[in-house]
Amino acid sequence: MQDFWFRVSLPVVFSTLAALLLWGIFSATLALLFMVVVLLIVMAHRARQLFKLEQWLNDARIETIPEAGGIWEEAFSQLYKMVKRHNQTKQELADELQHMEQATAALPEGVAILNEVNRLEWFNPVAQQHFDLDAEHDIMQDITYLVRQPEFVEYIQESNFNNPLMMRPARHDDMVLSIKLIPYGVNKRLLISRDITQFERVEAMRRDFVANVSHELRTPLTVVSGFVENLQDMSDLGQDSARRALHLMAEQTRRMDNLVADLLTLSRLENVQSPLHEETVDMKELLNEVYRDGELLSGAKHPLRMEIASAANLLGNRDELRSAFSNLLSNAIRYTPEGGAILLRWFERGGQPVFLVQDSGIGIAAQHIPRLTERFYRVDRSRSRETGGTGLGLAIVKHIAMRHQAKLEVSSEEGKGSTFALVFPIKRVLH
Ligand code: ADP
Repeated sequence: MQDFWFRVSLPVVFSTLAALLLWGIFSATLALLFMVVVLLIVMAHRARQLFKLEQWLNDARIETIPEAGGIWEEAFSQLYKMVKRHNQTKQELADELQHMEQATAALPEGVAILNEVNRLEWFNPVAQQHFDLDAEHDIMQDITYLVRQPEFVEYIQESNFNNPLMMRPARHDDMVLSIKLIPYGVNKRLLISRDITQFERVEAMRRDFVANVSHELRTPLTVVSGFVENLQDMSDLGQDSARRALHLMAEQTRRMDNLVADLLTLSRLENVQSPLHEETVDMKELLNEVYRDGELLSGAKHPLRMEIASAANLLGNRDELRSAFSNLLSNAIRYTPEGGAILLRWFERGGQPVFLVQDSGIGIAAQHIPRLTERFYRVDRSRSRETGGTGLGLAIVKHIAMRHQAKLEVSSEEGKGSTFALVFPIKRVLH
């Protein structure tokens, strides 16, 4: 800093001394003239340097930095260092960015960044391939204009961060994508897409296998159970042991028949290709039917009550809803000892319609509750078998709930009873 002021003041001091000398020897006019000439030269020199600086700033490259002397040399050298540092940082950032781009390009998943109004800020090559995007023209376009399948548009607009969406892209319908939205930063979202075609194929094979086995079993079973029933009806069947054997055979074939029926129901519900056939379901009528079935099953062994506190009807599939409600009610009856009370309720909670079955039966210990909807998961194997259970009832209920975007809530206390509730979304209510 001191050096700077010394360099700036040196020509001023020299020219003032020279002017004073001229004044002393010659005249004041000459001294003044000398000062004016000196000032003009200094100004011209500064103007030239400023001009060079301005020209350089228009295209600030390190190779073209102007050369200068005096105090300008210092300023230009500082500028040179600054530009060098800036270039270095720029290069480092560009390298980092390239690394990131290479890493995301190598990801087997599609990654796209959406802003708060669903516009595409960036995407990797896999996302480009999954959604048929154009790297040049589709940046900052609304993703719901580029991918127009209704389920995808609904998924993006609802910003459902919990569940992935399974979808076949419009232009590659042999491909199955699993799509997930992840929120990050301020109102930004990552759209992750994964090709699950292979996985879906294996799943479909597994489902087909179960469905085929069940179909194949059905015919021989019908034949055998038919014969068993005929034999039981024959009056000349004397021996007690033969009667007992036939009774057991009839019971077991009935069980197998129930099992096959439930397996077929499950594989039909699991099939992604079988869409939900929706209709307006008259809930009062359906609930009365379910209630009557319950009375028959209970055989007047339980005080059965029904409360219909809501007039809401549902948009859904009647047969599936009936199957779900009946399964819950049949469980309540089967797992409640004689005399225990059972309540059926249809009501609204915060606008959401709820179907609820409450029993005062044997209850379920807390550790079993999360696993109840798994296939063949039974808390008490022998009780389930004795009462004709297949171990598939709640798995069926869960699938039907999922197809109706409903939630299955379970609360229970061992020895006191259980409550199973199906909570439907408001959008399914019809009045
Ligand atoms: P299951 O045909 O064996 O009844 P589910 O899938 O319907 O099969 O139910 C799974 C298990 O959950 C049952 O085996 C039983 O242990 C338990 N469970 C279901 N509902 C009730 C209930 N209301 N009270 C007590 N336990 C229940």
